[in-house]
Amino acid sequence: MNEPAGPIGVLAIQGSYHLHLRALERLGVKSREVRKPGDLESLAGLILPGGESTVMSLLAREYGLFEPLRLLALSGLPCFGTCAGSILLGRGQGQPPRLEAAPVELLRNAYGSQIDSFTAELTLEPLERPFHGVFIRAPRIVKLDPPARALGIHGGLPVLVECGNLLLATFHPELTDDLRVHECFVKTCAQGRTS
Ligand code: GLN
Repeated sequence: MNEPAGPIGVLAIQGSYHLHLRALERLGVKSREVRKPGDLESLAGLILPGGESTVMSLLAREYGLFEPLRLLALSGLPCFGTCAGSILLGRGQGQPPRLEAAPVELLRNAYGSQIDSFTAELTLEPLERPFHGVFIRAPRIVKLDPPARALGIHGGLPVLVECGNLLLATFHPELTDDLRVHECFVKTCAQGRTS
């Protein structure tokens, strides 16, 4: 695999960021925890983890990260959002304020509450074999506008979406030992920005 030109940042203000750091470490890729605007310098890509999107959005604004994150995502920096992270990258009604970097509308907690969390074997376009998808109080992707497109569908709804250099997953690949989705993202980071 080609090396990304810089470290891959992981937004580390709330949520399951440590599992993404571990996945990157297992892939032999340099990473950096992002907690303040200066941590965003010279990144080859950025992961927005799962967690609680309302808290993450609030803290991002409090730490002065919200606008820099939005500008980076819009400028073509490869960004990968999982669950709450994908909520932040996309659009939607009500709370929390989102980065609106991808024309993807997500409805929070739309599969139900914590006990309605589920797993499913997913067929994902970039992968030859199914991927074990873990959905925890996941959002539903209710609308996609071009150039966003679904790379995986479950129950009639997109669960993995690509839009330029942005990748949005409503499941948690970092909760499995399977590194294939992270590997796809690292490849995008190695290719560099689109603009
Ligand atoms: N329900 C959470 C939210 O709306 C997302 C859950 C998750 O990231 N697993 O932010």
